[in-house]
Amino acid sequence: MFDPKDLSPEEKRFLDNMINGVCLIDNTKCICFWNESAVEITGFSVEESIGKACPNDVVAGMTVPEPLCENRCPFLTPQQCEKPAVTDIRLRHKNGYAIPARMRCAPIIDKFGQMTGVLEVFERSYGELSMSDQLEDMRKKAYIDTVTRIPNRRFAEEAIFECLDALRQNGRGFSVLMGDIDFFKSVNDTYGHDAGDAVLAAVADTLRSGVRSLDVVSRWGGEEFLVILRDANNKAALYRAENLRKAVAEKIIKNDDNAIAVTISFGGTTAHKGDTAESLIGRADECLYKSKEDGRNRVTISN
Ligand code: GH3
Ligand code: MG
Ligand code: MG
Repeated sequence: MFDPKDLSPEEKRFLDNMINGVCLIDNTKCICFWNESAVEITGFSVEESIGKACPNDVVAGMTVPEPLCENRCPFLTPQQCEKPAVTDIRLRHKNGYAIPARMRCAPIIDKFGQMTGVLEVFERSYGELSMSDQLEDMRKKAYIDTVTRIPNRRFAEEAIFECLDALRQNGRGFSVLMGDIDFFKSVNDTYGHDAGDAVLAAVADTLRSGVRSLDVVSRWGGEEFLVILRDANNKAALYRAENLRKAVAEKIIKNDDNAIAVTISFGGTTAHKGDTAESLIGRADECLYKSKEDGRNRVTISN
């Protein structure tokens, strides 16, 4: 059986000074060596680690893409593990948080060819493990408005391009609505900017609950929202916009001790095959302008 007492002081110092975390597991599946870097990386002291059975909080508080203990444990499949396996894992720090790490795990074989233990060498991988998670996260963030948690203008622009493409390719129609909260500046002036933000989030919620899942509600900017209604012609767009307008007007938004009510004006238009994103949004904007001129809290749809 492998025994760290057999290590010479030089060997022990060598292992301790390694930049990688080093953990040795003996034949009884207990940790028998834990170097200084392992302490530094995981927060678990030598005393806390030595003698602990593997798997345990220290060694296999690890979560891995595939179960390390079931599939890659050299004790279970020593033949398969003769070549050291490198696995991306998450170690669990003593304080509870996950540490992305890369681990090399190899059986220790004695001169008789007997497996006497397992060597585990690990290092922080500085998030390499979660690269795809991070990318996914960044991608989402790039398309989501932080105040309202709905898609932002960039998302809406790309959705419009896709819808225009589908219209030209296979005649699938759609309409857009440009909505703008009425007298929003006075909400900020009366209740403060944070209350204004809460109103934006509440209006976004109301709009989102009032459309189908295939539609898009986005924050176009400031207090403006762009809604994309798939398969909707002028008549459907008018009907749907009226419903959204009423839903916003009826909503009472509670913020601190205030109950705030706002209205919204809409301008809408149905896409033509010859439209560009600019011409489409331009028509919706003109209609919105007319709704404002006519007294606000109303819908104007172009022909
Ligand atoms: P109208 O009915 O003509 O649309 O009047 P309005 O007051 O809504 O329009 P105006 O363009 O005068 O004011 C818009 C205000 O929206 C001014 C700006 O400070 C505020 N605003 C823009 N973005 C945000 C935001 O993210 N949070 C908050 N709280 N206010 C914002
Ligand atoms: Mg406004
Ligand atoms: Mg505005």
